[in-house]
Amino acid sequence: MQQVHRDKELEVSEVKKLTEDSYAVRFKLNNFDFNYFPGQFVMLKFDPLIENGEFKVLNDLPKTQSRAYSMSSSPLNKDFLEITSKRTPDGFISDYMARVLGPGHIVKVSGPYGKFVFDENSNEDIFLIGAGSGISPLMSMLRYIIEKNFNKNVTMLFSNKRFSDVIWYDELMEIQDKYKTFKCYFTLTQKDHESWDGFEGRINSNLIKNCNVDLMKQIFYICGPPLMVDTTVKDLKELGVDESKIKIEKYE
Ligand SMILES: Cc1cc2nc3c(=O)[nH]c(=O)nc-3n(C[C@H](O)[C@H](O)[C@H](O)COP(=O)(O)OP(=O)(O)OC[C@H]3O[C@@H](n4cnc5c(N)ncnc54)[C@H](O)[C@@H]3O)c2cc1C
Repeated sequence: MQQVHRDKELEVSEVKKLTEDSYAVRFKLNNFDFNYFPGQFVMLKFDPLIENGEFKVLNDLPKTQSRAYSMSSSPLNKDFLEITSKRTPDGFISDYMARVLGPGHIVKVSGPYGKFVFDENSNEDIFLIGAGSGISPLMSMLRYIIEKNFNKNVTMLFSNKRFSDVIWYDELMEIQDKYKTFKCYFTLTQKDHESWDGFEGRINSNLIKNCNVDLMKQIFYICGPPLMVDTTVKDLKELGVDESKIKIEKYE
């Protein structure tokens, strides 16, 4: 049985800017045994939110707020726990993390939670499909697979608006260069690179087919906004994939 922690105070060690509007937030574990499965999430409670010249809680809203964030770190990493946040338009906590949160700040962390977990006992190949910050739990899975030296074929299809929005691009490319078992495909919905030679447009059946794998031999892990997840599941089913082979996480 997995131990679930409540309001464990963890100290932020780093807030790392990854793209124009996405940040990796790392928390020191300091020998705290936080066990989670790749794909799970935590609830972060900002209690209280720190107001300063940059940031004020508007309209008398509660000065304590909680939000869900998937781990992007591998559970084998015992030094820090990492989440990856993408600022949403008009966002509140994602904006707070970008503008205020920094090293030394304390956040109350509860979890781990969630059933969107990597099944390491399956013999199938792995197909990771993500959009935007939906890369976060997929990154945890990928890092874990690499660290554990699993001899599995992993394909990733990652959708973003622009090339400049692609989170973890360099690390994904490094992994792809190093491991023949990993292939990453990117698609852009608003191409911002004249020389872009990857896929274009939203994830759909054609893009999935163009990844050139036997779709019947995969376990699919899909994460992103609800509409993207729902349409991708529908596409996969139309392509003949059994529902039992599809695992999803929606960032509602
Ligand atoms: C299981 C799960 C896992 C998730 N994992 C991730 C993840 O890994 N990465 C990720 O990026 N997201 C993740 N999400 C989404 C995440 O939980 C948040 O929903 C997301 O970050 C948006 O939160 P937000 O507070 O920025 O925006 P919202 O919750 O939409 O807040 C915006 C609202 O706050 C108001 N507001 C804005 N500024 C202020 C202010 N200063 N004072 C008062 N009100 C204000 C706005 O008017 C607006 O109404 C996950 C969601 C789920 C369900």
